[in-house]
Amino acid sequence: MTARGSRRFELLEKNIRRLTGRAIADFDMIRDGDVIMACMSGGADSYTMLDTLRYLQTVAPVKFEIIAVNLDQKQPGFPEHILPQYFERIGVPYRIVEEDTYSIVKEKIAPGKTTCSLCSRLRRGILYRVAKELGATKIALGHHRDDILHTFMLNMFYGGKIKTMPPKLIADDGENVVIRPLAYVREPDIKKYAAAMEFPIIPCNLCGSQPNLQRQAMREMLNQWEKTNPLWIKSMFTAMANITPSHMLDRSLFDFTRFTAGAGKEAHGDTLFDRDDKLDQGQSVINLV
Ligand code: SF4
Repeated sequence: MTARGSRRFELLEKNIRRLTGRAIADFDMIRDGDVIMACMSGGADSYTMLDTLRYLQTVAPVKFEIIAVNLDQKQPGFPEHILPQYFERIGVPYRIVEEDTYSIVKEKIAPGKTTCSLCSRLRRGILYRVAKELGATKIALGHHRDDILHTFMLNMFYGGKIKTMPPKLIADDGENVVIRPLAYVREPDIKKYAAAMEFPIIPCNLCGSQPNLQRQAMREMLNQWEKTNPLWIKSMFTAMANITPSHMLDRSLFDFTRFTAGAGKEAHGDTLFDRDDKLDQGQSVINLV
């Protein structure tokens, strides 16, 4: 375990803060005067996000407010005292929203079927409403680099799409802006940080939902790659920010009718028919995130 106060902990903390600051800047996530609604599930990701945002609040050139929000979905055994006690202890403004989505989900979904889709839809609607009530200008979620990679692969393998969780998006109500400040941070680093900080973690299996088997399969595959070919993961993540539409097959992103003799060179394309020695030798040809 990385002990708090150790040199390793300092480096870990510095790295998480640096990557979070960089993602915020890269995607223009936070501006002067923003009110950030930090969604707190009680998992390691949400605590790390809140902790890091609070640090950045003290050093960032822009001024912004943070309100921590927890949605108590009335799952059996949810320890409802833990988050309010934590928020009081660290002195962050907060709101606990109580909505019994658990009963709705149990009533509507047949036993044995996956409940996450309805549950997360209900949760999303409530959080959008609460953001408006609080006057929040941004809704911050604790998703990290590995969530983004897993979603990317799930979409590719099962959805036939190249897409993932973006670091910033306009919510599907067309009004709220959702941000993911931990977009560049690795899950293992978040776990180490949360353990060292002794955040009061709330278990995520209280709803009794079946584990998401496909997502778990992606997680296991990437964990294996992380051990054997860590460069693949870095390169895959960097690739998401280096798309060459003229070298894909999506006709809605690139007008292939433009290709006529003498139409001029295409930016960022590779050289027709040539192989790239560096790629063939497994060397990186760009700076990886
Ligand atoms: S794991 Fe449980 S709480 Fe989370 S989205 Fe699925 S049903 Fe809802």
